[in-house]
Amino acid sequence: STTPVKVTVTGAAGQIGYALLFRIASGALLGPDTPVALRLLEIPQGVKAAEGTAMELVDCAFPLISSIDIFDDPKAAFDGANVGLLVGARPRTAGMERADLLSANGGIFGPQGAAINEGAASDIRVLVVGNPANTNALIAASSAPDVPSSRFTAMTRLDQNRALGQLSQKTGVPVSEIKKVTIWGNHSASQYPDIFHAEVAGKPAAEVINDQAWLENDFIPTVAKRGAAIIEARGASSAASAASAAIDHVHDWVLGTPAGDWTSAAIPSDGSYGVPEGLISSFPVTSEGGEWKIVQGLEISEFSRGRIDASVAELGEEREAVKALGLL
Ligand code: NDP
Repeated sequence: STTPVKVTVTGAAGQIGYALLFRIASGALLGPDTPVALRLLEIPQGVKAAEGTAMELVDCAFPLISSIDIFDDPKAAFDGANVGLLVGARPRTAGMERADLLSANGGIFGPQGAAINEGAASDIRVLVVGNPANTNALIAASSAPDVPSSRFTAMTRLDQNRALGQLSQKTGVPVSEIKKVTIWGNHSASQYPDIFHAEVAGKPAAEVINDQAWLENDFIPTVAKRGAAIIEARGASSAASAASAAIDHVHDWVLGTPAGDWTSAAIPSDGSYGVPEGLISSFPVTSEGGEWKIVQGLEISEFSRGRIDASVAELGEEREAVKALGLL
C-alpha cells in the first residue's frame, strides 16, 4: 500500500529516540515497502533538539519517509496515529520516592492515553518503552477506554534479546539457532528469563547447558542487571539496543512471528499462567494477523513458578500504588 503509516514517537529527542528514528525511517519497523509519516512528540524543552534530529532525517533522504512533524501536544501528535512508541518518561532521580516517580509518569502517560483514545487511528498499536514501562502502559490503557486494551503493550524484548545474546555466548551457537526463550513478568530486576522450554540448535537448552548454578548465579542476574552493567561500562544508558528491541517488538506484532518460535512481550493478562487479569505482564507470545497470543500449555516447574510469582507480585504492587494515587 502507498498510504503512509503514521508512527508517533514520544521522547523523540532522547537517546533512544535518536537511535530509533533512523531505524524506523530505513524500513526496519514495517518493512521495505511501507512509507512512514513520522510524528515526533517532545516536551517544549525538547522540541529544538527534535528539530535537529529531524534535520538529520531529512539529510538521510530515506525513500520511505513521507513527512516528519514535530509536536509538543499529545493530542496533535497522536491524531491519526497507527503506531505509538512511547519512549519519553520521567526518569527516577536521586532521592525520588516511588510514589513521586509513579505520579510524574501518570502525568505523562494518562494524557497520552487520552490523546490516543480521542484521535488515534482505529488500528493503533502502542508500545511503551519509558519506565516503569509495564505500569506506564497500564496507565495509558486505562486512559483510553475506547481502545481495546490489547493494543497497549510494554517492552521486554530487550530482555529477551539480552537472554539470547547470553545463551549464544555461553553455547557458541548463533542466535538464529536459539528458540523459545521467555521473559516473564515485569521489565525490572524481578523479571524471570526462562530457558526451560528453549532450544539450542534443536536440542533442549537446559540439556545443552546442564549447569543450574550458571543459570541461577550468572545467566538470570546478568540478563536482569544488564542495563546497569552497560551504564557502568559506557558511561551512558543503553540506547541502541533498546531502540533495536522496540523495532523488533513492533515489527513482529504487525508482520508476525516466525513459525516454530515465540518471543516475549508484556501484554494485558487474560489470567493465563495464574497472572491476574489485566496486569500488563511479560509472556511467551506469538503474533498472527496483528494480534499477540499467549503461548499456552507450557509446563511450569516449581523453580519457574516462584520466579514468575515474585515478578507478577511486584506488578500487582505497582498497580495498587497507581490506583491509590488515582491514576487508574
Ligand atoms: P532515553 O531515551 O535514554 O530513555 C527513555 C526512557 O526509556 C526512559 O524511561 C528509560 O528508562 C527507558 N528505557 C527502557 N529501556 C531502556 C534501556 N534498556 N536503556 C535505557 N533506557 C531504557 O532517555 P533520555 O533522557 O535521553 O530522553 C528522554 C526524552 O524524553 C527527553 O528528550 C525528554 O525531553 C523526553 N520526554 C518526552 C515526553 C513527551 O514526549 N511527552 C515526556 C517525558 C520526557 P530509565 O529511566 O529507567 O532508564
